[in-house]
Amino acid sequence: MAITTSPLVVLLAVAAVVSTVSPASALPAGLPDIKSLPNPWSAFKNLSGCHFGDERQGLGKLKDYLWHFGYLSYPSSPSSPSFNDMFDADMELAIKTYQRNFGLNVTGDLDAATVSQMMAPRCGVADVVNGTSTMGADGAVHGRGLFSYFPGSPRWPRSKKTLRYAITATSATSIDRATLSRVFASAFAQWSAATTLNFTETASASDADITIGFYSGDHGDGEAFDGPLGTLAHAFSPTNGRLHLDASEAWVAGGDVTKASSSFAVDLESVAVHEIGHILGLGHSSVEDSIMFPTLTSRTKKVNLGTDDVAGIQGLYGNNPNFKGVAPPATTTSSREMDTAGAGALSRTWRGLVDGAAAVAIGFGLALL
Ligand SMILES: [Zn+2]
Ligand SMILES: [Zn+2]
Repeated sequence: MAITTSPLVVLLAVAAVVSTVSPASALPAGLPDIKSLPNPWSAFKNLSGCHFGDERQGLGKLKDYLWHFGYLSYPSSPSSPSFNDMFDADMELAIKTYQRNFGLNVTGDLDAATVSQMMAPRCGVADVVNGTSTMGADGAVHGRGLFSYFPGSPRWPRSKKTLRYAITATSATSIDRATLSRVFASAFAQWSAATTLNFTETASASDADITIGFYSGDHGDGEAFDGPLGTLAHAFSPTNGRLHLDASEAWVAGGDVTKASSSFAVDLESVAVHEIGHILGLGHSSVEDSIMFPTLTSRTKKVNLGTDDVAGIQGLYGNNPNFKGVAPPATTTSSREMDTAGAGALSRTWRGLVDGAAAVAIGFGLALL
């Protein structure tokens, strides 16, 4: 999931896209016109060039974005119940932390590269928790990996070698159960291969450690999904076990997502592998090629654990003596090249939005504490 680059651009064909990749022109009847949908982060484009001392309409909304991902504290003064449009010192500090996490030049300004990265669809889980950057960018300096854990390093108990998961809420998606079972079995297998953990699907939520479901809008956990824009999914740290996917996304659960004709296609398995990482206790990583990097490029399949992901999960659960090591890239195209390609697609998408073209970019959500 690349930084400046990895937006999950998704086609609104959403629920309808299951085992096939539908072209944008073949949206099933009854689905909303993607052109009419707003993009929550597109207005950030107008803030490019802003720096400390500026006051510009929209900066308050960007502060809200920084707050959502843990980079800013919410205003505590009763006289200023919401974020204002002043580029103040706190905002500059937040932007510097963000830039450090995403490998950008640490300028403290809203330069073009930073704004572009912020507009990219991404996981909704916070990068900074309790004021501490959890993406590991600083830890690497001390010889540690770039992976991170949630505060307190919560993990599933050692006595639980097998975690049971149930796919419980599927009424909001048209993806069939057999396909969902296959996709999640494959996603969980990535994590079981590197550790001694085992995962098995069970039919009942009451019998499960982990519950997986598709939801739309406000679904009761304080992190409302926002339709085809914004977050794609989120998951909770151990031992909560809840993994939620936005039912409104254009999930691709079968076929080759890299060959999708639409630049909005998002691979369900790739998002599932990432969210399971949160379920097991991993936070976000600053390693661009890792599964736990916050963003995912559209039309990209990214399901193999990277070296950083393996170091992180083995640090929590120990290693599997039979683990063969990190798989080589599935294609001859390097992740960075794919990210670059994705970034290009993203840029086109944003221009498309500005021009009123039928393009929509979507982010995907992250783990909640
Ligand atoms: Zn939720
Ligand atoms: Zn995440």
